[in-house]
Amino acid sequence: MESIHPSVNEMHERVKEDGINSVLDRFDEQNSRCKFCEQGISCQLCSMGPCRITSNAQSGVCGIDAAGMVIRNLVHLNMLGTEAYTYHAIEAAKTLKATAEGKTPFEIKDKKKLIWFAEQLGIGTKGKDIKEIAVEVAEFAIRDLSSHEPSKIVKALAPEKRKEVWEELDIMPDGVFQELLTVGSSSMTNVDSDYVSLAKKAMRMGIVTCLGAQVVIETIHDILFGTPKPHDSYVDLGIIDSDYVNIAVNGHEPFVGAALIKLAEKEEIQEKAKKAGAKGLRIIGSIETGQELIQRFETEILAGLTGNWITQEYVLATGAIDVFAVDMNCTLPTLAEYQKYGVKIVPVSKLVRLKGIEEGFDYQPENVEEIAMKLIDMAVENFKERRQKIEPYVPERVQSVTAGFSTEAILEALGGGPEVLINAIKNGDIKGVVALVSCTTLRNSPHDYHTVRIAEELIKRDILVLSMGCGNAALQVAGLTSLEAIDMAGERLQEVCRALGIPPVLSFGTCTDTGRLALLVKAIADYLGVDIPQLPIAATAPEYMEQKATIDAIFAVAYGVTTHVSPIPPVTGSPEVVKLLTEDVEKLTGGKILVEEDPVKAAELIEDAIIEKRVALGI
Ligand code: SF4
Ligand code: SF4
Repeated sequence: MESIHPSVNEMHERVKEDGINSVLDRFDEQNSRCKFCEQGISCQLCSMGPCRITSNAQSGVCGIDAAGMVIRNLVHLNMLGTEAYTYHAIEAAKTLKATAEGKTPFEIKDKKKLIWFAEQLGIGTKGKDIKEIAVEVAEFAIRDLSSHEPSKIVKALAPEKRKEVWEELDIMPDGVFQELLTVGSSSMTNVDSDYVSLAKKAMRMGIVTCLGAQVVIETIHDILFGTPKPHDSYVDLGIIDSDYVNIAVNGHEPFVGAALIKLAEKEEIQEKAKKAGAKGLRIIGSIETGQELIQRFETEILAGLTGNWITQEYVLATGAIDVFAVDMNCTLPTLAEYQKYGVKIVPVSKLVRLKGIEEGFDYQPENVEEIAMKLIDMAVENFKERRQKIEPYVPERVQSVTAGFSTEAILEALGGGPEVLINAIKNGDIKGVVALVSCTTLRNSPHDYHTVRIAEELIKRDILVLSMGCGNAALQVAGLTSLEAIDMAGERLQEVCRALGIPPVLSFGTCTDTGRLALLVKAIADYLGVDIPQLPIAATAPEYMEQKATIDAIFAVAYGVTTHVSPIPPVTGSPEVVKLLTEDVEKLTGGKILVEEDPVKAAELIEDAIIEKRVALGI
């Protein structure tokens, strides 16, 4: 398997020559996949299994049918995604509280956002000190996420018309902890075997995951590090300069990375690196931790973003990284082996442990500066050794990008409110808007091929794309989030982009940004006085990979959005479940799943869905 990015293929060759196995090779080694697992009709939940649905056995030993088995397997994936988002949300809230109490190096950077959020949650702000408000918001968030009562955050943020639909379907959620308990307990052996009931429980959990946990995460990131604004940044492996002490940050949480940037901005730290023989010290962004940072920080200390999760081993193989600090999910289990290239792998979250790596720190807001300082010292020491041991090899390619299109930034770029966007949609200059929220996977094509192809096809059809997750990095590295990409758009979208000075693909953020995007969609729906399913919008996950992506898709369907997914999820073993997700659910929520593995055909289907909505709206 290959990548569509030349720099990744270049590094793959180096790794192969060095006799080291990497993700592109391991994909090829897994050449025969279980057909039952592919269709979701295998189960090993209890000692009577593993069971499979076959023409001779229409149910498992316990009696569960194909539909029950398929949806139960899917629900288990969703639970893991919800847990990861919720873990991150609690960490963010603890960090906000500790910051307000003066226990971190961070500050309340976006006070307006904090006050906005407090007011949304019904927390009084008049006459209160900003730190007092921050503590109240953090405590409110932790209480609400842990609550066994209906989620107040969801009630505060969900569109009114959606709440009516969800009340009717009985999917207005409790706090996310409670929804996890309900879904987990329901999806054990011999509990809930009704596929419709389990699907509804998954939607409840999806709603509170995205509008609850995710909104808490990203709002707090904005409060602490500033709401993203459009600015230039750089991506691809060529951003690494081996003459610097380089600390790369990988994962999803930006806290350690932000503390590193703050320290590295000090003259004395740069001097320390120079004394070791380096040009200075830089922070390198990798996957979503890097994306969080490049969306918010404009500083030379942050070199940019290397790419998405498939690039990790190739980043290390450059022999130009001193410390690779890893938090939360999407850290490859093989990284210890890559220490051959002179890098030190250091977990900075208690969630991450790797075979062969002894050293690690457990992030707590109160110790983040200490962790960052230790990483800097390790990196400076490492630089001296690395320079003697390893001949670095860094591909040259660097791509400039415009990063930082938060909701506020998009509305500002569009003239301060949703009117300009809405008018452009109404008159057809922008046919519709598609949220591309995706991982990256090798499952159905070379690395990032599907993501890039579908985005190219969408913008060609005058459809504006907002990108998030590893899919965002794919499009950044491919040049689609830059102004030069305007030429690739359809004529009418080109005109809009030129007039506003924006690329046809707006780099919106990370895979954690689905909730925030939902709020942008809500603002547009409220402005027009319509419900979400009526809007000419859609979502696509052209290369979904892991469990966070599946819960995002379930939320999108509950939110009323037509959502394209590829590769085909493991549900095809049950025609009933396929029908539920691709047809029947539309009558209930207005959203549905579109499955299509060919990116051009998928873009056509999405365009058709958008045109259908436009016709219904009479525009
Ligand atoms: S839970 Fe049912 S289907 Fe699953 S392994 Fe046990 S008996 Fe088989
Ligand atoms: S988009 Fe998916 S693969 Fe990429 S970092 Fe997020 S969870 Fe991991």
